[in-house]
Amino acid sequence: MAVKITDECISCEACISECPVAAILEEGHEKNPYDDIFYVKPESCVECVDHADTPRCAEACPTEGAIVWDMPYTAEFNDYYASKNEEGVYKIREHKSKGLMLPSVKAQKFIEAVPMSSREQYENVSDF
Ligand code: SF4
Ligand code: SF4
Repeated sequence: MAVKITDECISCEACISECPVAAILEEGHEKNPYDDIFYVKPESCVECVDHADTPRCAEACPTEGAIVWDMPYTAEFNDYYASKNEEGVYKIREHKSKGLMLPSVKAQKFIEAVPMSSREQYENVSDF
């Protein structure tokens, strides 16, 4: 990741068409682990790097606190994503030959200027 959608999400759909890499899933989607909020696939989100200066989903979101920072999707945070995937926080894609698409299999771009403290505290992306 990435950015993360929280319980504050009101399922308004404003973000989904803004994502340049189709990383956002609506509620009820078979690959969304949540029934009542939208979901960002961390293995797909690139934090809009090479597409926009700031995350487009957060620009479009009308709800304070619905889209927050998460950890970079890099090998350094492989265990973080692996354990939270087991807990059901994420539903990381299973590749036929490569297995679970964890950061150690394929890392993603992230905005290096975002302080790690903002990520650890899941701060609002819109405050960035
Ligand atoms: S930050 Fe960008 S790439 Fe990530 S989910 Fe939002 S719109 Fe998609
Ligand atoms: S724009 Fe915000 S409130 Fe609307 S679906 Fe996306 S995350 Fe949820």
